[in-house]
Amino acid sequence: MKISVFGLGYVGCVSAACLAAQGHRVVGVDVNRVKVDLIAAGKAPVVEERIGELTAEVVASGALRATTDVAEAIADSDVSLVCVGTPSAANGSLSTTYLERVSEEIGAALAAKTGRHTVVFRSTMLPGTCLDLLLPILEKSSGLTAGVDFGVAVNPEFLREGTSVRDFFDPPKTVIGEFDAASGDVVAALYEGLPGEVFRVPVPVAEMTKYADNAFHGLKIAFANELGSVARALNVDSHRVMDVFLADRKLNVSPAYLRPGFAFGGSCLPKDLRGLVYAARRADVSVPLLSHVLPSNEEHLKRAFEFIAATGRRRIGLFGLSFKPGTDDLRESPLVELAERLLGKGYDLRIYDANVTLSRLMGANREYIEGRLPHLGELLSNSVSDVMAHAEVCVIGCRDDAVLAALDPNGFNAAGERVIIDLVRLPDAELRRERPGYVGLGW
Ligand code: NAD
Repeated sequence: MKISVFGLGYVGCVSAACLAAQGHRVVGVDVNRVKVDLIAAGKAPVVEERIGELTAEVVASGALRATTDVAEAIADSDVSLVCVGTPSAANGSLSTTYLERVSEEIGAALAAKTGRHTVVFRSTMLPGTCLDLLLPILEKSSGLTAGVDFGVAVNPEFLREGTSVRDFFDPPKTVIGEFDAASGDVVAALYEGLPGEVFRVPVPVAEMTKYADNAFHGLKIAFANELGSVARALNVDSHRVMDVFLADRKLNVSPAYLRPGFAFGGSCLPKDLRGLVYAARRADVSVPLLSHVLPSNEEHLKRAFEFIAATGRRRIGLFGLSFKPGTDDLRESPLVELAERLLGKGYDLRIYDANVTLSRLMGANREYIEGRLPHLGELLSNSVSDVMAHAEVCVIGCRDDAVLAALDPNGFNAAGERVIIDLVRLPDAELRRERPGYVGLGW
């Protein structure tokens, strides 16, 4: 199929490259010239496992290209996947500004197109957004009728940053919210050959399913982390507890997101929980459980800060800055928040994060760092040993191989001169063994 992908961020550039690798012809569209130029040069605009090689391959073969020209992309495709951002607005509600804008642009281009085109929304959006807001915009700007002249569907994305290419080729499920059967058929054909069950459902069910997923992930992490805090206070290894808890076959609980540790973050879980709670409040529905997931998460950030403050030391090395391993994504990263609190209290901080540094060098997240986090950008070093040498307290927020290698228990810190604050449960039991200066978050 000929596909246009709107928005070349974490979801869009992975979808574009993977669909091209599946044999489709794909054109990526973004308003951000840097991302379009990176793809044109065969480079991925995000740091993710395998995405660099895959993008280079599909651009070289001609299966993927990129442009800023909406009309040209629509003219050259049968289906559009909309992957623009839906960030939190100031009041916690979901911002649909980018979705509205791109729908207007696609609609205007559809007016000049011959042949049926299907518009598929992959962005996360609350129930009602597609049918009540975006579909009328598409119809108005095109002068056409949905379901007759063009197709519409919602196809939420379930990829996890860090493993998103793998997740694309082995999805947990494919959810197709179809406005009409013909639109659903088009989406189903896009993913033909991929494993996993396909659910063809009404549009609002597809929209809401994504919120069920993200709210449940947040809830699981909050549950595991609170359990971890209590276990630690009672001198119990929470990971041993979870091993036993999860082994219960009758409970049949997936271990994903159930390892006690540090606060969660990223561009999805916090904003989708906020969006869901906001929507519930507007509908006058009381949701005490869902409303307390983010406050529970905040506690783990506070605890990490308190552990650092309790050392009485001022020179801190922070290892990891992105919101989770395997990505350069800094949006709502709890490590960014921790760094900002430390800076705010006058700590002398240095930071190491290989993915963030690589992305900055490529230019992908340079604008984000320079625009929003220039104070942290200055503290980033590309040398593990320099940051170790600076640190009286090493805060381990990622399981980066270079960081783990530098933590060799027999060489590094053998005399216990540094404090290690472990936010990730270091894989090496030797390092975790009670020694002066080791503090684990939930164990
Ligand atoms: P992102 O911010 O990384 O990328 C969005 C891109 O859209 C940006 O490059 C931006 O320049 C571009 N854009 C904005 N307006 C545009 C327009 N009019 N035309 C073309 N491009 C435009 O966002 P993301 O993380 O990829 O997330 C996209 C959506 O997918 C969100 O709704 C998010 O909630 C959802 N989602 C994200 C993930 C994830 O792991 N990041 C997973 C599942 C779902």
